[in-house]
Amino acid sequence: MDSQPVHMPCPTRFAVDRLRSAGLRPTRQRIALAGLLFAKGDRHLTAEELHDEASGAGIPVSLATVYNTLHQFTDAGMLRVLAIESSKTYFDTNTSDHHHFFIEGDNEVMDIPMGSILVDGLPNVPEGMEIAHVDVVVRLRHKG
Ligand SMILES: [Zn+2]
Repeated sequence: MDSQPVHMPCPTRFAVDRLRSAGLRPTRQRIALAGLLFAKGDRHLTAEELHDEASGAGIPVSLATVYNTLHQFTDAGMLRVLAIESSKTYFDTNTSDHHHFFIEGDNEVMDIPMGSILVDGLPNVPEGMEIAHVDVVVRLRHKG
């Protein structure tokens, strides 16, 4: 019985491509962090969470470097910052327009499925301005 080689996506190559197309030099640390960030589909995470993942994966990187790298990725358009809580910055790997659930207590961010929320009645904006983003956060808590 032949076992076919399983074709796994290569997280390193994917990360390098992602960095290059965002105009960032693919340094070792950026590749490692981008590999963690973008290998698992759409995610929302804090610098602390990514730092824990990096430590768990044996990637030697300081929290300050993780933080700086996340902001570089954001400036390059690879991530979007979510203003959900003032005490914590969440980074979203999905940069398209979408809205979020935030589960209070669990501090967990989830995407609201596309089309299940309709934002209507937006105000007129000042002369010379346009709406860049509308971010809706629906805050949830466990019942009882
Ligand atoms: Zn999201």
